Amino acid sequence: MPLHINTPLLESRPLSLAAGRSIWLKMDALQPPGSFKIRGIGAACEHHAKAGKRRFVSSSGGNAGIAVAYAGRRLGMPVSVFVPETATELAKALIRQEGAEVIVHGASWQEANERAMSALDADTAFIHPFDDPLLWTGHATMIDEVVAEGLSFDAVALSVGGGGLMSGIVEGLARNSLAHIPIIAVETEGAASLADAMEAGQRVQLPAITSIATSLGARIVSERAFEVTQTQSVDSVVVSDHAAVEACLRFLDDHRVLVEPACGATLALAYSHMDALSRYNRVLMIACGGATASLAQLQAWHTA
Ligand SMILES: *Cc1c(COP(=O)(O)O)cnc(C)c1O
Repeated sequence: MPLHINTPLLESRPLSLAAGRSIWLKMDALQPPGSFKIRGIGAACEHHAKAGKRRFVSSSGGNAGIAVAYAGRRLGMPVSVFVPETATELAKALIRQEGAEVIVHGASWQEANERAMSALDADTAFIHPFDDPLLWTGHATMIDEVVAEGLSFDAVALSVGGGGLMSGIVEGLARNSLAHIPIIAVETEGAASLADAMEAGQRVQLPAITSIATSLGARIVSERAFEVTQTQSVDSVVVSDHAAVEACLRFLDDHRVLVEPACGATLALAYSHMDALSRYNRVLMIACGGATASLAQLQAWHTA
């Protein structure tokens, strides 16, 4: 049995009314560790466990670290998550709650990641948060589930950080003979490494991440994500942090599910960026979730 669950697929009445077209939600916010990441990370961890690895290491102080911790607990494997001093108390608590060890090291992710790399040995599998084909194959199960339910759709809207989710959705579309379906790739201002790469015609490194949507905070997208934009129809949309947070709060009222701004960015297409959907009649939105934002935090961002 895989480590992820088969999530609900809902036609959202409130989002459809707001957007003026049919909006379907793949509710991966309801995965046990709170985000879609367990699909790919669960698949990768199972792969490494079968191959004889005895321990997992992650350097994500966000949903990837939480997903590795969850997978390790389920598989009975010890997990160490190296996080920078900037990691939130909530994220660290969620990782520890899964029984994993949290090692705080360095001012930024780069330093935490270097320390994680120095902790690897032959028995240890390092689980990357987005740049690994094993992850993409796992994320692709989202599209398998949607297709199995018989839904047809004319676009997929999703959030982009390092591009693992997008790479996985593209793989899922391809293996279901849907490679022609366009992707709407959403980022926030200050984390728009894909939009910048598409504009420049090559991958570019952002000088810093300035968005509150830290789960989208990859300074450079993966090679695979950029390649997808060259071979597939990808519309890039960038929304403000404010629009993303507002979408989270409206979504909480509309669907009674709390998600991070990383997910709110995609939901904001329905609430405040309908123009980005104007060419489509039935849009599949990946409600990717995220466990690291509390209601108090969303409200504080909203009034900031
Ligand atoms: C990781 C994450 C993303 C971005 O996924 P990438 O594979 O890095 O593009 C979006 N939303 C949430 C909630 C995430 O945890």
